[in-house]
Amino acid sequence: MADLKNWKEVPIGGVVDKPASAREYHTGTWRVMRPVVNKDKCINCMQCWLYCPDMAIGGKTSTETKNGMEMTGFDLNYCKGCGTCAAICPVKAIEMKPETEFEK
Ligand code: SF4
Ligand code: SF4
Repeated sequence: MADLKNWKEVPIGGVVDKPASAREYHTGTWRVMRPVVNKDKCINCMQCWLYCPDMAIGGKTSTETKNGMEMTGFDLNYCKGCGTCAAICPVKAIEMKPETEFEK
């Protein structure tokens, strides 16, 4: 069996030395797939907003929708392209597209 290192010998990978600093780290920079919403299909159920692990989906109150909420899109500074929103959407209104499609 390989000689495994104990936890004290493993090099430190990264340290968050300041609490409540998550907004300063734009996790969207390493995204390879981008969510795109089809607003014609979206029923504003806000399931994507609820499940997004990065809180990268926007929403606002609205008098135009049945439940009083409207999904407003993605904050690409923080979206890391995990695809959870696309998987959870009950009407398949979100499609994951390769970032290369958006390169200029
Ligand atoms: S792809 Fe992941 S991180 Fe990006 S908006 Fe959807 S659930 Fe959030
Ligand atoms: S889960 Fe789908 S239908 Fe619901 S708000 Fe998000 S995009 Fe719209």
